[in-house]
Amino acid sequence: MSSVLASDGIEAGYEVIPERGQRAVFCGLTSIIWMHRQIQDAFFLVVGSRTCAHLLQSAAGVMIFAEPRFATAILEDRDLAGMADCNEELDRVVDEVIARRPEIKSLFLVASCPSEVIKLDLGNAAQRMQRRHEGSVRVVAFSGSGIETTFTQGEDSCLHSLVAELPDSHDSTQRLLVAGSLPDVVEDQFRRLLDAMGITDVDFFPGRRFEELPAVGANTQVLLAQPFLNDTARALVGRGAQLLSAPFPYGAEGTLAWLQAAATAWSVPAATFESVTRSSLARAKKSIAARAEKLTGKRVALLPDSQLEIPIARFLSRECGMELLELGTPHFDTEIMAADAALLPHGSKIIEGQNLDAQLDRVREQRPDLTVCGLGIANPLEAEGLRTKWSIELMFTPIQGFDQAGDLVELFTRPLRRQQLLDFT
Ligand code: SF4
Repeated sequence: MSSVLASDGIEAGYEVIPERGQRAVFCGLTSIIWMHRQIQDAFFLVVGSRTCAHLLQSAAGVMIFAEPRFATAILEDRDLAGMADCNEELDRVVDEVIARRPEIKSLFLVASCPSEVIKLDLGNAAQRMQRRHEGSVRVVAFSGSGIETTFTQGEDSCLHSLVAELPDSHDSTQRLLVAGSLPDVVEDQFRRLLDAMGITDVDFFPGRRFEELPAVGANTQVLLAQPFLNDTARALVGRGAQLLSAPFPYGAEGTLAWLQAAATAWSVPAATFESVTRSSLARAKKSIAARAEKLTGKRVALLPDSQLEIPIARFLSRECGMELLELGTPHFDTEIMAADAALLPHGSKIIEGQNLDAQLDRVREQRPDLTVCGLGIANPLEAEGLRTKWSIELMFTPIQGFDQAGDLVELFTRPLRRQQLLDFT
């Protein structure tokens, strides 16, 4: 069953068309793969089925041989049938994990479809275990289930669960909180640029260690580094923080506008902003220009996957000269996406949600030069002679900021170049 429901946002120059039906997306558990690398003293324990364990193993690839800080506590038939006390079993598994990995300072209990269906209350379990391991490990629960979350929403769910853990800020000094996981190299670059502008009181959330959770309060200005943090952003606002509106930091234009939002909030003089960003901006523009030629005039379709689609579409159309044919996103938050959506070509149609067959029919009919989509769709489309880009790479590659702008273009030129190299006709 499927339907196209309604549309809005036309007055803003774009139209949002909700679409419902079959979906081909990851569940939020996938976000554990990058979150466990980001928070280096955390362990993620999924309470789920063998399916969940298989998903994590496939998504993590070779990482599973490196003693990663995640695992699945598998619910057996006895647990599902109510013959065993799940909570007792869970306590036992958690004790084991904590005893075996003394370096861990935080443990995330991650709910899955099976644990939610049998109504296993992981929030309660986390509180119970917190009391038991008080002083050594902090235990928090969040949901990564396919019922509740889509792919990157797992990170939103995780960070949202942490907002309540953030200490209160009683300070009057204005602080910048950059929210959303970023590769270390990008975080360091942003910190350097902000620092050079005189914005020195900066926290990144999540930080690299759970022990370094930033304080939040009325003096906190939040700048989102990732577009999928709806619940986290609202919870931070609920703690008194103010949300800065900005396009996301992809490409030269996006990064400049993102930094500008912070500079404006800190009243950084225009001359200082210009002199701090000048050389990085010029480098980014040059590096985009050197690669974007291959994309200019090409037609692209973005299928819903990570919520990065709108800022990426803005970057591909404005900085690489691509024509947008299909623009899908799993979820559209008007407030968080406002700055990026306003920069889309006038009259853009944003498809929110998915009806897979209808969407694939449109893609087949229009035959874009490049389709950005999930792994499950990519190979079948390649077999039909269409070029694809796996959207998951956008989450595993450093793409934010000036210095990564060229690499971001490269992600999209690679499939087209490969086609050229393999074309013997
Ligand atoms: S959480 Fe749900 S959707 Fe995700 S792997 Fe487990 S069963 Fe599948």
